[in-house]
Amino acid sequence: MQQNKIKNISKIITLLKKEVKDFDNPVVSKIGEIQKDPFKVLISCILSLRTQDRTTGPVSLKLFQVADTPKKLAKMPLKKIQNIIRPVNYYITKSKRIKEIAKNIIKKYDGKVPNNFDELMKLKGVGKKTAAITMVYGHQKSDYIPVDVHVHVISNRLGWIKTKNAEQTMDELMRIVPRKYWGDLNDLFVLHGQNVCVTMSPICSKCIIRQLCPRIGVARSR
Ligand code: SF4
Repeated sequence: MQQNKIKNISKIITLLKKEVKDFDNPVVSKIGEIQKDPFKVLISCILSLRTQDRTTGPVSLKLFQVADTPKKLAKMPLKKIQNIIRPVNYYITKSKRIKEIAKNIIKKYDGKVPNNFDELMKLKGVGKKTAAITMVYGHQKSDYIPVDVHVHVISNRLGWIKTKNAEQTMDELMRIVPRKYWGDLNDLFVLHGQNVCVTMSPICSKCIIRQLCPRIGVARSR
């Protein structure tokens, strides 16, 4: 049974790698790939929460033009941060949060984003998802599977897991998915989720993995 599940995971990952070649990469991993800078990955991840990627990308880049280190961000007046990040949702809360995070990184971690999942989680406003993204894309450590809404929804639709929230999903996926796929899973599922297996009504008719998917919980599809 377990062997069949692993085979199914492996086939799905291979097919999704083919499918996503034409799609644009998610903003957070793109910043990680281009910059390989844990500070930028961490901050852009916070900006991206409950905000569309097409908004987060340009806003993050604009912010990093003037504040690309914890020191610069900590020194910036709150009003100025707010003006730059205004297009993202909850920009007032997020501006306070990222300034606070920058200050804490300076105070407690000598100006360097901690290279440790548990330490990252101690920063106010950093949850499991943000910590995992920072570890994977900022510090290039494939020891975690970042889980956002797409990873959570698709893993459950595929029947790999049966979970209620992203935290549980991350733990379960790290238990059943072979480690060699951990680094790819987030990017593949986010792209698949944004373009095909969309949350409200997935486009199953155009899905490359439809033969392998039991479509658990899918009430409406195209
Ligand atoms: S078949 Fe439908 S539900 Fe299953 S992964 Fe594809 S789009 Fe999602």
